[in-house]
Amino acid sequence: MIRKNLFERMNIAGHVNVELQRSSNFYVFMNVDLLNGCGQTCAGCFVNKGINSYDLNRDLETIARLADEVNASNLHLEEIALGPTDFFSAKNTLEVITHPAFKRLFKNEDTKFVMTSTLKASGEEIRQKLKVLEESVGHLDIDLLIATDIDEFLTNKQYLQEMKSKWQILKESSLEFDPAFQINIHPANLIKYNPDNLTRLAQEIKAEFDTILEFNPSILRIKHQKQKDNLKFWMRTIRENSLKNANNFTYTMVNKSHSGMNNLVVNFREGNFYLCPFIYENVFSYEDSFLIQKQQSEYTLSDLLESKENSFVKQMNYSSKTNHCEGCEYLVSCTYKNVLTYMEANEIKDCFLGLGNGEAHGRAV
Ligand code: SF4
Ligand code: SF4
Repeated sequence: MIRKNLFERMNIAGHVNVELQRSSNFYVFMNVDLLNGCGQTCAGCFVNKGINSYDLNRDLETIARLADEVNASNLHLEEIALGPTDFFSAKNTLEVITHPAFKRLFKNEDTKFVMTSTLKASGEEIRQKLKVLEESVGHLDIDLLIATDIDEFLTNKQYLQEMKSKWQILKESSLEFDPAFQINIHPANLIKYNPDNLTRLAQEIKAEFDTILEFNPSILRIKHQKQKDNLKFWMRTIRENSLKNANNFTYTMVNKSHSGMNNLVVNFREGNFYLCPFIYENVFSYEDSFLIQKQQSEYTLSDLLESKENSFVKQMNYSSKTNHCEGCEYLVSCTYKNVLTYMEANEIKDCFLGLGNGEAHGRAV
């Protein structure tokens, strides 16, 4: 089933007071790369689709052990995002979701499951995977991020029909879905990412599916110079949009309730945990600067929590070497979300989010 009033509920990023109200709770988010291969060929895909040193038993056991540890503590396991590829067409989806350790990840019924998909797999493939989930973890509350493409969505009627028929499959499932659309912002699209086109896309998505459009900075997944070039394009697009289009979009990067003081976001790939490098939770970077060191042969929850503290101190030190961060009103938010670790690792000195120099004015709700 699809939850009611999607747009209304998902368009609210949270009020600034939320942080204070929830400060007695501490939330853990895990993004785990376990899916291997992808049956899709999206333009602008930056995902490394093949996991090199893949050991499903080792990896699922590690994550499940950490999930058990979080659930046994007074922390709350808020979300587990399974990636990096298309949930319905990755080669090993069935292997992952039928593994006995998978169920353990969702022992706490409040833990959300986040999956990404283009929804272009056949109806049969989608139904098959949903059936397995319905039978083994029927209580799942699922955030589905539908990877879409601005050209296809705005020009291809067949694509829209296909999405509607897949939407119907989600509706018929007994699992509970919160779907949202998401685009990779990259220079190759024919329809430009100017504020008018982005507004048109967001309005179409609202009209057809009553849900929201998200801009995921998935470019952070690619490395080195190519990443920097694409990052500049992404930042330019977001800045232009937030300057000229603030009334139509929720710019969650300026929302102080996203500060992250009371949450820990970690990424997992090939046996290692990494700190999440960005304000948005479902962002991955596997650079060494984000690697979480383990004190013993296996990861423990203390390793993850300590890495957050250590990173905070390091970033505060780096802020004095930047051009805009020291004294910026968002410094605490950015630091708790590791933005300055990313800046330091990539020798970025100017404001990474287009906020600290007073350029952008988004709508913080
Ligand atoms: S579904 Fe995801 S991983 Fe697969 S091609 Fe598209 S963006 Fe890349
Ligand atoms: S200047 Fe930009 S990157 Fe630095 S703390 Fe402020 S908002 Fe964050």
